[in-house]
Amino acid sequence: MTPVERSGVTRLDDLPIRDDLRGRSPYGAPQIDVPVLLNTNENPYPPSPGLVADLAEAVRRDASELNRYPDREVLALRADLAAYLGHGLAADRVWAANGSNEVLQQILQAFGGPGRSALGFEPSYSMHPIITTGTATRWISGAREDDFGIDPGKAIAAIEEHRPDIVFLTSPNNPTGTALPLGVIERVAEAAPGMVVVDEAYFEFARTGTPSALTLLAGNPRLIVTRTMSKAFAMAGTRLGYLAADPAVIEALLLVRLPYHLSTLTQAAARVAVAHRGELLGTVDRLRAERDACVGWLRERGLSVADSDANFVLFGRFPDRHAVWEALVERGVLIREVGPPEWLRVSIGTAEEMAAFRGAMSEALAVCEVITAPGGSGRDDLEGIL
Ligand SMILES: *Cc1c(COP(=O)(O)O)cnc(C)c1O
Repeated sequence: MTPVERSGVTRLDDLPIRDDLRGRSPYGAPQIDVPVLLNTNENPYPPSPGLVADLAEAVRRDASELNRYPDREVLALRADLAAYLGHGLAADRVWAANGSNEVLQQILQAFGGPGRSALGFEPSYSMHPIITTGTATRWISGAREDDFGIDPGKAIAAIEEHRPDIVFLTSPNNPTGTALPLGVIERVAEAAPGMVVVDEAYFEFARTGTPSALTLLAGNPRLIVTRTMSKAFAMAGTRLGYLAADPAVIEALLLVRLPYHLSTLTQAAARVAVAHRGELLGTVDRLRAERDACVGWLRERGLSVADSDANFVLFGRFPDRHAVWEALVERGVLIREVGPPEWLRVSIGTAEEMAAFRGAMSEALAVCEVITAPGGSGRDDLEGIL
């Protein structure tokens, strides 16, 4: 072993880190201290005093047993989540972990790994490739269409070419908001030689009538549907994600999960959240209405806006999106620079926060260049950029 020179500062490259991690960047949505945070797709409504009281009571009750390890199999919470999901699911078909990111990592640990590969259709959730490479699985980037949908013919061709061990389908997709028709998921699942993960983190926000991939689980042991309490459930701080799949899939995950991975307090808080789901999900209709209003408002300004079934909106196009992002930050509104290069994503907040966004955006549009949407009613002087 070569001794590292002790200059007082150790650089990452000085460490004997895995070669495949060298030069990579960690996940990082910039966190800036401004009044209006519309950058990480959280639900803007905090828990009510009644829910806070029930959470405190659950913690108080379980605190007296914190000398003991938690329920390793998380059975009570898994039963609660199964009842919430419906579709005839029971605890043996539901699994939970510290955020759906941990659920995804366990899936990669069990079904990916060295010599294996995972395919996703981008732009999509940046954590899918990060968790994939973190588990020494090879990432294969498939493409989405101009409207951010997935062409089933091209998806099947990519699957046949690469034979991935795992296929990711995100519906509604982050950062585009695009929900996939069930037919696309079915065709991908038929063609895929390995596991198919449908990431439904935003499912509760989908427009009425959008079917869940949960309806495809029966007789499909290689299909996994993941969900989270971080978005519609307004419990991002709890760190609770879950999945529904065949019981054999959960047996596979038990081989890789850390023992006692889900703390007693997390399990208790999540059970209280499920019990209060009426209140928590009660904010979804308001957020959907704000979302649809936001899409309309941006389109009226001649911008390109992706149809959204989620609690955020992807809009553009800006020759210099960073200038727009910065103009908003200067006005106290933080959104996210993510997705294709000319686009930005705004999470849907409260009515007040969205009014602040519109105010800041009006000012930003007065000083930043826009590539007017085809058929849009944008500024005439910029039509030429098309
Ligand atoms: C936010 C998000 C998640 C949620 O991750 P958690 O670990 O449950 O907080 C999962 N998938 C997608 C696509 C997301 O955008």
